[in-house]
Amino acid sequence: EKVDFIYFFNHIIDRFEMNKYEQNLEFVRKLPNNSHWVWMDKDKMTQVLDNVISNAIKYSPNGGVITLETEIKDRMLLTKVSDQGVGIPKEQVERIFDRFYRVDKARTRKLGGTGLGLAIAREMIEAHDGKIWAESKEGKGTTIYISLPMMHKKWGNAS
Ligand code: ATP
Ligand code: MG
Repeated sequence: EKVDFIYFFNHIIDRFEMNKYEQNLEFVRKLPNNSHWVWMDKDKMTQVLDNVISNAIKYSPNGGVITLETEIKDRMLLTKVSDQGVGIPKEQVERIFDRFYRVDKARTRKLGGTGLGLAIAREMIEAHDGKIWAESKEGKGTTIYISLPMMHKKWGNAS
């Protein structure tokens, strides 16, 4: 269905922001004030964003800032979820999208999870003709990028 991604994303962030986290996290939004329409399966997109934001929370340090940003870039809607957490070693960044892949088993075991979240996220984003990828610096933090095709006005009311 046709969804205002900005409204939808704000709502998801609200839900996370209402919780209290041991690390005393701060959420910073950098979102446009106007609507941007995306053709999507809301349940699947919720699952993707939930996992990406949960990961950012899971790997954040005390007082960490999680930045949630959406902008238009190259005619796509580009969303970035950044944390100031442990980061991921360069040679492993692309592998986090593999099924069951988890960086440093000892580190992640106590944090729970199966290592499926991002593999499913990639499948779902690609089913929406989008892309998802990561950039990370060990000890500095991680950014997950999600780019989605926008519904252009000239397409009219495709819904
Ligand atoms: P699940 O999502 O199934 O509960 P998970 O979170 O371990 O388990 P993924 O979401 O697929 O699995 O992430 C895979 C691995 O990538 C994680 O185990 C972790 O090692 C690494 N990772 C993902 N996001 C981050 C992040 N923001 N910072 C640091 N490492 C991350
Ligand atoms: Mg996860």
